[in-house]
Amino acid sequence: MTKDRAPIIPADSISITSAAKHLRDGGLVAFPTETVYGLGADATNGDAVTRVFAAKQRPQFNPLIVHVKDTAAAEAAATFNDTARKLAGAFWPGPLTLVLPRRDERISLLVSAGLDTLAVRVPGHPVAHALLVEAGVPVAAPSANMAGRISPTAAGHVVFSLPGPGTGGPDMILDGGPCTVGVESTVVDLSTAVPVLLRHGGVTAEDIEAVIGPLAPPPATNGEAKKSPGMLERHYAPALPIRLDAIDARPGEALLGFGPDAPIEAINLSQSGDLSEAAANLFSMIRAVDGPPFDAIAVMAVPDQGLGRAINDRLRRAAQPKDRSS
Ligand code: AMP
Ligand code: MG
Repeated sequence: MTKDRAPIIPADSISITSAAKHLRDGGLVAFPTETVYGLGADATNGDAVTRVFAAKQRPQFNPLIVHVKDTAAAEAAATFNDTARKLAGAFWPGPLTLVLPRRDERISLLVSAGLDTLAVRVPGHPVAHALLVEAGVPVAAPSANMAGRISPTAAGHVVFSLPGPGTGGPDMILDGGPCTVGVESTVVDLSTAVPVLLRHGGVTAEDIEAVIGPLAPPPATNGEAKKSPGMLERHYAPALPIRLDAIDARPGEALLGFGPDAPIEAINLSQSGDLSEAAANLFSMIRAVDGPPFDAIAVMAVPDQGLGRAINDRLRRAAQPKDRSS
């Protein structure tokens, strides 16, 4: 019996051309970006977009980010304002997503879950860029994992994170090595009068504020429809429970540490206390301890500044009890 597993194919010009054709033909392709691996579909093809939601079991009210090759393509997809141009100039290509009024009517309404806005990003990863150039269509690409679970930061993770091609998953996984940023993009909503930080991510809030001034915090979501799926209470969740602000490991726990003072037995997100290194290691280190012989994961405190805010946001949501999942 053959196992239903998508092939992992090293990214080169031949495999990228074939993946691009696959996208144009309405297929699903998993591919690397600098943040995490994405599950891509032609954003103008409603059937393909529907299959992305189905493969991830993602609720259809959670909109997808559209990936494009450059700022000109982003301006064709969504309506830019001066703030958007400043941020695009400062951070694209890179781990920043802008939410703007929809413009390109070819993009499926399902992508933005019925909202009149669109989330767009120009990824910096050379394989993602080459794929977008070859595909010639905007590509809707959420993280290549089941909804609510940990994002994949290496091609091998995708195989364990999604169904195979015979059961609705991607037909191929382009391998571009481990992701260098390791946490998802920062999401900024520019469709309202004041820019709103919807999700902490790979570009720090401090760096964004240095370019455009203060960001408003995400709106309260008590009982309301969530504006961003990254705002769901339980998200990025491993199989084992997570305990935050640990000082040491209790019996049965794996310990994820941070910095030079972490106990020697800790798996260290960054021995030197470097937040970029910790972000890049976060999801793969959680995956590495997410099962026997451990029955829980304890995580030491990470400073709540710069990229540490994205890391702590992921950890807090991952640590939510299971009944708060959506
Ligand atoms: P993911 O692709 O799983 O990393 O998640 C996509 C992120 O982009 C989520 O946090 C979404 O809420 C956000 N997003 C996508 N489209 C929109 C939109 N039109 N308005 C607000 N947030 C969006
Ligand atoms: Mg995701």
